[in-house]
Amino acid sequence: MLGTLVVVGSVIVGTVVLSPTLALTDLRDVVIDPVVGVPGSGGDGWTYMATTPRGAPITWPCEGTVPIEVNPQGAPEGYEGLVASAVSRVSEASGFALEVVGETDDRTYRDRDAGPVLLMWADEEEVPELVGATAGIGGSTYVQGPGGGGHSVGGMVVIDTDVPGGFFRRTDPEPVLVHELLHVLGLGHSDDPRQLMAPEHSGQDDLGEGDLAGLAALREAACS
Ligand SMILES: [Zn+2]
Repeated sequence: MLGTLVVVGSVIVGTVVLSPTLALTDLRDVVIDPVVGVPGSGGDGWTYMATTPRGAPITWPCEGTVPIEVNPQGAPEGYEGLVASAVSRVSEASGFALEVVGETDDRTYRDRDAGPVLLMWADEEEVPELVGATAGIGGSTYVQGPGGGGHSVGGMVVIDTDVPGGFFRRTDPEPVLVHELLHVLGLGHSDDPRQLMAPEHSGQDDLGEGDLAGLAALREAACS
């Protein structure tokens, strides 16, 4: 096959452990996890991004919103519509209420311990994880309590501004944004290339059956 398939996302997943007696400053740093998703977790064509020791998925609380702040520096023209469309698609498909709460000049994409999910654009000089054909990264930071439960408290999505070959000049960036937002919600990669959560983008634009089943499982886990 000619051309290069573009890796849609490698991911930073936060393994922040919170003990009830510790102050926020005692949270451990976010670590980079080379495995995007927990192998063998999830179901047919989908995985969880991270699980608690008891095997429950890490995702956002059932109630409330998943707030997102956009840093427009380096964003493509018309990014507001792109973000609104992706956020709306993910909210509808997942049942979680993602909400753009405003814009920011914050570029702290690591250590997202709290506050809105940061959405920004960058190159690999600023964000080394965007090396080579990686088009975006996304993930959440989560806290885990002494009882073994855990949930996301922050997160980030960074979209690459200079994917080799001018990828975003000939490809709709929305599926990449949706893919990264699903990482934020708690889905890992799929080994089925027809799913949007496959690590490589090969033209899939819509959520597949595996993606939707994974989102339903996340929502059920959050609300049960
Ligand atoms: Zn990914």
